[in-house]
Amino acid sequence: MTKRVFNFSAGPATLPESVLLKAQQEFLNYNNEGMSLIEMSHRSKTFEAVLAHAKAGVKRLLNVPDNYEILFLQGGASLQFSMTAMNLKQDGKKVLLINSGEWTKKALKEIKKETDVEVIASSEEQNFLELPSLKNIKIDQESTSFVYMCSNNTIFGTQATEFPDTGNVPLVCDMSSDIMSRPVDVSRFGLIFAGAQKNIGPAGITLVIIRKDLAERASHNLASMLQYRSFISTDSMYNTIPTFPVYILSMVMDWMQEQGGVNAIEKRNQEKAAILYKAINTGDFYYSPIQNQADRSLMNVVFRIKAGEDLEKIFVQEATAAGLDGLKGHRSVGGLRASIYNAHPVEGVQALVNFMSNFEKKYQKELIKTA
Ligand code: PMP
Repeated sequence: MTKRVFNFSAGPATLPESVLLKAQQEFLNYNNEGMSLIEMSHRSKTFEAVLAHAKAGVKRLLNVPDNYEILFLQGGASLQFSMTAMNLKQDGKKVLLINSGEWTKKALKEIKKETDVEVIASSEEQNFLELPSLKNIKIDQESTSFVYMCSNNTIFGTQATEFPDTGNVPLVCDMSSDIMSRPVDVSRFGLIFAGAQKNIGPAGITLVIIRKDLAERASHNLASMLQYRSFISTDSMYNTIPTFPVYILSMVMDWMQEQGGVNAIEKRNQEKAAILYKAINTGDFYYSPIQNQADRSLMNVVFRIKAGEDLEKIFVQEATAAGLDGLKGHRSVGGLRASIYNAHPVEGVQALVNFMSNFEKKYQKELIKTA
């Protein structure tokens, strides 16, 4: 393969080509210091500047208020399922969870190990093909330590457009697969976390944005590596921070700024998703399993072929051969999924839509056979 393909993987995912090229150029000799950034001490002035730049980028792009701390942690988004509970639980109170997919189910399992938890809304009975209704949820201000949710369900392809009003109870949100894809009012959340590997960087770091006072809830007996306060007081450097992912993330933040910031990125994301959903909904060959249009994700566009799974397999094979990679749906649900995060170019979406149209023409007879 001599040229780059269009990568629709759910994560790790496409990064801006300009960022990859800059990293390549600077790789051997960063900043004329005679060594690669990845060979440099994380305590060096040079790396400290990279870290500060990454943080400033996140702060600017998401308009993070001053009473929040921006942290880069290890352990993936999955460790946050446990860390949020370990740090934010309170004696005699429980966590309320909105169950919208596999990732909130996993979080539920981990939170249960730490504290009492109650599911207050769920779409599990609908196989998570829609978002849970938040209409009748009640959040008791006295007996709730925090409310937990996920904003974008990577596997099922649903994305929340509204967030519950939790009053004084902190709202914890897993934004792994839609962080910085649209503006959010950070002050409405107690804690936001996101694995970097979809929208903002490579695998290896997790962005945590935490209202500082909440870190003081944790017991000092909790392992230091699991306490947010260890990382707040050391600027994410309680131990050796993964320097390379922070460096790449800092350049992705610059790239996003150059694109016009999160508002401009959101507009592009809406346009990209609209092209793809239109192709899925036009005609009778493809369909979206997410019936409620308002619930459809702009990040992970899940779709199916009416004629069935055999043809979906062929679709993936032929798409891969045509330079459209990573379109197989998650192993737990099957089907097809195009992940079109921030850095996925509109040209990739157009190439996919063209491929879909040609594929439909070629295999239309299969559909007629099943009719
Ligand atoms: N939450 C969501 C919404 C995800 O999509 C993923 C990974 N696909 C995770 C959590 C887990 O992330 P990690 O692999 O970084 O632990």
